[in-house]
Amino acid sequence: MYCGMSRGLPLESNGLRVLTRVGYGRVHLKNYGAMYKSVQEAVAPELPRGAEKIARAHLVLRTHGKTICRDTTPLCSDCPVSAMCAFCS
Ligand code: SF4
Repeated sequence: MYCGMSRGLPLESNGLRVLTRVGYGRVHLKNYGAMYKSVQEAVAPELPRGAEKIARAHLVLRTHGKTICRDTTPLCSDCPVSAMCAFCS
């Protein structure tokens, strides 16, 4: 990712959760691979170009998922994207 060699937007579980909650891709509780693929397809048209921007997007999503959009207790009232979030509305 940092060298610009990755395809799409590399995501770990926190970033993936954030994107599904705001409406990208489909949640597959029993098939992580299918969920990951659906999110990759959904975000592909909107991805920035360049390794630096991709890495930043990865880190922002990861941090948001770890601190605000937590798995069991998301802090939606503190979230800057709550107005556009499918999970919150
Ligand atoms: S509004 Fe809530 S569920 Fe939606 S992205 Fe923010 S913290 Fe996550």
